[in-house]
Amino acid sequence: MVVDGTTDDVAVPPVLEAGRDYPLTYREFVGMFPDDDACGGYSERLRWPGGFVCPGCGGAGAPWRQTRGRLVCPGCRHHTSVSAGTILDKTRTPLITWFEAAWQVTTAKSGLSAKTLERTLGTRYRVAWTMLQRFRVAMVRAERERLSGYVEVDETFVGGVDRGGKRGRGATKSVVAIAVEIKEPKGFGRVRMRHIPDASSTSLVPFVRDVVAQGAVIRTDGWGGYNALNDHGYMHERTVLSSSPDPAHVSMPGVHRVASLVKRWMLGTHQGSVTPEHLQSYLEEFTFRFNRRTAGNRGLVFQRLLQQAVATRPVTEADVTYGYEW
Ligand SMILES: [Zn+2]
Repeated sequence: MVVDGTTDDVAVPPVLEAGRDYPLTYREFVGMFPDDDACGGYSERLRWPGGFVCPGCGGAGAPWRQTRGRLVCPGCRHHTSVSAGTILDKTRTPLITWFEAAWQVTTAKSGLSAKTLERTLGTRYRVAWTMLQRFRVAMVRAERERLSGYVEVDETFVGGVDRGGKRGRGATKSVVAIAVEIKEPKGFGRVRMRHIPDASSTSLVPFVRDVVAQGAVIRTDGWGGYNALNDHGYMHERTVLSSSPDPAHVSMPGVHRVASLVKRWMLGTHQGSVTPEHLQSYLEEFTFRFNRRTAGNRGLVFQRLLQQAVATRPVTEADVTYGYEW
């Protein structure tokens, strides 16, 4: 966990001010989580804030504790653990490694690739990759509230080779739908993104319905794929670009900005290695980060990610390898 030779100066646990239950610095992080037991106790508080609830019988009451984090329900004798039934389930990776990964993922400004995480933690590449993939599934859960107010929606092409692909047709690039809240008088709010098969209304309208609350004002360009939005409880404002004196980045500043940021992030942090089957999980991580870009307190983001991790159902090995079924 800790790089050789630096353990001595963090031996004294930090004293946190009353009520704060997350670390603010790496030194505090190491002090709070010296071993698996400390990580297990913290995970239990996040998963069962009101005290242990048996996943077998639903009964409450302090569990009996066995070695290696095993918990036994005093009511029905069901054996469980804090990670059973969560995305941390069925992994031989110790909790303390998960915690270290969560800390790195949430405190690195642009996140980090599996390769960088592998080097940072000294784990195998496969372990680093698996942890990142599972955390991305947990990140989705933190983003369920729908967007509202003024929302720009557009599609962009990500990855692959641009053959000047026509909209709505299959191209070598992946199509990504983007929705961004626009704040008045200026600034952007939250974002949602989805990897869609094409830019038809069959792909675009369900995306909007899933991520934007009814009553919102939706701004799009003149593309026919958005024509039906008025029928679904939205106020639809269209800017027909060919008749507008403004180029796309002026009339749709939110989606234009987010599209360029997500592409830069994939090229920079991930060296452009994002494959179509995993594109959605990267989009989820970007969304989680973007929507917390102004959070001054990274420790809270770290806590939030772990909270979602122990509240999210397991992910199969096939999901990790071949792409999660979103
Ligand atoms: Zn029970």
